[in-house]
Amino acid sequence: MKKEILSMTVEELEELLLSIGEKKYKAKQIFAWLHKGATFEEMSDISKKTREKLKELTFLYYPEIAQKYVSAIDGTVKYLFSMHDGQLIESVVMRYKHGNSICISSQAGCRMGCRFCASTIGGKIRDLSAGEILSQIIAAQKDLSQRIDNVVMMGIGEPLDNYKNVIRFLNLVGAKGGLNIGYRHISLSTCGLADKIECLAKENFPITLSISLHASSDEERSEIMPINKKWCIDELLLACRKYFDETGRRISFEYTLIHEKNDTPAHAIKLSKLLLKYFKGVPFHVNLIPVNEVAERGFKQGSEKSIQTFIAILEQNGINATKRRRLGSDINASCGQLRAANATKKG
Ligand code: SAH
Repeated sequence: MKKEILSMTVEELEELLLSIGEKKYKAKQIFAWLHKGATFEEMSDISKKTREKLKELTFLYYPEIAQKYVSAIDGTVKYLFSMHDGQLIESVVMRYKHGNSICISSQAGCRMGCRFCASTIGGKIRDLSAGEILSQIIAAQKDLSQRIDNVVMMGIGEPLDNYKNVIRFLNLVGAKGGLNIGYRHISLSTCGLADKIECLAKENFPITLSISLHASSDEERSEIMPINKKWCIDELLLACRKYFDETGRRISFEYTLIHEKNDTPAHAIKLSKLLLKYFKGVPFHVNLIPVNEVAERGFKQGSEKSIQTFIAILEQNGINATKRRRLGSDINASCGQLRAANATKKG
């Protein structure tokens, strides 16, 4: 079977070149070309003979733009990418003062089953390879002719449910001579696979970990997030605390505010107590996200006043909390919805 070349490290490319009697140093040139989105034909400083051999032995595919939307309000760009087997995934580029951030997908679909989330509606179809995760950044950067500065793994899929490929991706994205994006500019969001969080802490990538918490009691969390039946809040927060102790990286907790389900003042008090139980005296952050009203899910947003009250209660307890700015509201920029809409159309 052909090797997928975008998933290969420089060292693996070197080995491949040596195995076909080529010079090792060419690996770095090929790696740089690949991460710029070049085809084999475009690799002008690599001999035709070598390119032909690489074509024989490896497989190269960049995501095709199936649909692209640009927000008239804030310039957010949303891509629906088609992968080599026709699977559709989404990536979103957000424009901030401090640079471009991309939100990328880690799986085609998702099997975590969170009740408010559009990405999980059709289940998980397959994992994305490391190269496919990376190729979303390459394709967006090429299409926009602009550098992507920050990466958030918050698109379709559960990154820690595709652990091996995500770790390989992290190795590739930070590589010098490739995209070279610093780990402090990368965040990974998880619904809470506690065992994998502990593994990640040992990998030595100083990335930011975001935890999709969304509730402060096991009963309420299990109702909206099935993963909580496997790893309860206590196990999850202990793993997060270990992550902080080992990496020194501040954890960010995401809390989706759902009207009357988890957004009352009593919920804010309970959330404060819970987080302070594990994180008193150490830095952490709470990101509040008014629920995105996905038609199939039936959850509603609360009023702006209820959101501000929620934030005020957290702040009174000394907790650093912000409401997430909603970008790309005119193009449905939140992930999972385009893919789901296209599946509905086809089905
Ligand atoms: N699987 C990972 C990353 C993907 S989801 C995770 O669960 O963290 C990215 C974030 O968007 C998560 O915090 C998720 O809970 C949240 N999210 C999903 N659907 C949403 C919706 N309808 N409204 C608001 N936030 C949502």
